[in-house]
Amino acid sequence: MSALATEGEAAAPRATLAVRDAARGSVFRELPTDDPTAVAEAAARARAAQPAWAALSVKERLGVLAAARRELVRGRAAVLDALAAETGKPRVDVVGELLGICLELRALSKKAARWLSRERVSARPFVGKRGYVLYKPRGLVGVLGPWNAPLHLTFVDAFPALVAGNAVIVKPSEVTPVAVYEAVLALNRVLPPGILQVVVGGPDVGAAVVDHVDLVCVTGSSATGRRVMERAARRLTPVLLELGGNDPMIVLADADLDRAARAAAWGGCLMTGQVCMSVERVYVEEAVAEPFTRKLEAELARLRFGADDGSREVDFGPFIGPRQIEIVERHVADAVERGARVVLGGKRAASATGVYFPPTLLTGVRADMAIMREETFGPVIPVQVVKDAFEAIRHANDCEHGLSASVGTRDLARGLALAERIESGSVWVNECVLVAAVPALPFGGLKQSGVGTRHGGAEGLRQFCVRQAVFADRTGLKREWSWFPYSTRRARLLDALLHHVFGR
Ligand code: NAD
Repeated sequence: MSALATEGEAAAPRATLAVRDAARGSVFRELPTDDPTAVAEAAARARAAQPAWAALSVKERLGVLAAARRELVRGRAAVLDALAAETGKPRVDVVGELLGICLELRALSKKAARWLSRERVSARPFVGKRGYVLYKPRGLVGVLGPWNAPLHLTFVDAFPALVAGNAVIVKPSEVTPVAVYEAVLALNRVLPPGILQVVVGGPDVGAAVVDHVDLVCVTGSSATGRRVMERAARRLTPVLLELGGNDPMIVLADADLDRAARAAAWGGCLMTGQVCMSVERVYVEEAVAEPFTRKLEAELARLRFGADDGSREVDFGPFIGPRQIEIVERHVADAVERGARVVLGGKRAASATGVYFPPTLLTGVRADMAIMREETFGPVIPVQVVKDAFEAIRHANDCEHGLSASVGTRDLARGLALAERIESGSVWVNECVLVAAVPALPFGGLKQSGVGTRHGGAEGLRQFCVRQAVFADRTGLKREWSWFPYSTRRARLLDALLHHVFGR
């Protein structure tokens, strides 16, 4: 495959990547892989094409992208079928990914021209001058995507990068590259050649992308984020890192327990729990611990898991692969060994094909257990009973991650005040997960959960730009007071001015 991913192109034979159907376990597609040389060639093509793209007005670029988006949506079957097969997710989640990126582009189309226009600023302390800020594209942006929401988490960065006038190279996860590959094909039926390219491969290909771009966006594990940041530092390439989470949910004594239990069930088991901002640990005030746990058990017991093959309805699908389920099993075993009780689930479900783990509820957990300290990424909800809200906040913050967190309470003002004390990029009250779908809110993590934020209005778009300061004289004077020659008198004057303005 050429990195350009245009249709019908003759390409020299290359090594291929076998992509598995997560529910069946069998290979459903092979994609030719790229290597560092192919990445360098893709970067050269991108750099040749980018100036013409940047020369279009923002409105013109948005017009082209809207036409490309229509092409993508009309030809969505190939993309969505691939996404369903490689991730094993139910159709609702698969369609939701495409819907998410369309909403993203629509939000940009309304405001991008204003956000990217030149910004007049005051020229003070000088008079007779003019100053403004330009938002210019960085040039070439690299997007390295994860396997859990491949389409959404690639284009949530690629679209704003393109709107800002950059060329983009995306490298989807080697576990789930097909949907992104198909989406790039569809978009490239409209986009000018070289502006959006996909390269296929593993970390070595990702590293080559880092070596060639002017900004790298990574969604992945904290370990990968560190490696990418180290590599990017060689060329001082800026990074946007969206990394792992271990998100707490706090259920206060006055919470609507039905809503809290349903939120925990959805937030914990959505996409088999393989969501960066899934509910990973629950702290419940002791006054309501018993009824809340009962309700949560009932909600979890109702969930249907399996392959979404049209024969029945399911809420979540298989694990992406054996490695992921092993982490879940290790965390559950560690918790049980140290005294936790399995109220529901707890053991992988027998299946000849995909790997499945049932909704699992653990009680009697403690802060030192792996399940509370590390990202589990499975449909497992550990519930810890706490004395009060303060103890809950203390536990919530005693964590190396800081992606998102939620508080359940009927007292909105108190809930907001407590939520704001949690050390995480997003906090929610009586809500969960949906914040990532709100383009106006910044989304990103603190601590080991990331560097920078995506979305978030003008700032979210402008991070794909360099800011250029422009400053011009309008006085026409032969020279400035501050220029040579210096004198003792000028030093005295400056000193007096300093004292007069700032020293009194
Ligand atoms: P991963 O870290 O294994 O891989 C992410 C991407 O980086 C892949 O494309 C991979 O090939 C590439 N990569 C890996 N090592 C690299 C290296 N050394 N140099 C360059 N590229 C490299 O992540 P994953 O397992 O695909 O995704 C799961 C993780 O992603 C979880 O930890 C999850 O919490 C996190 N995640 C975070 C967010 C967020 O927005 N914060 C969203 C989804 C997933």
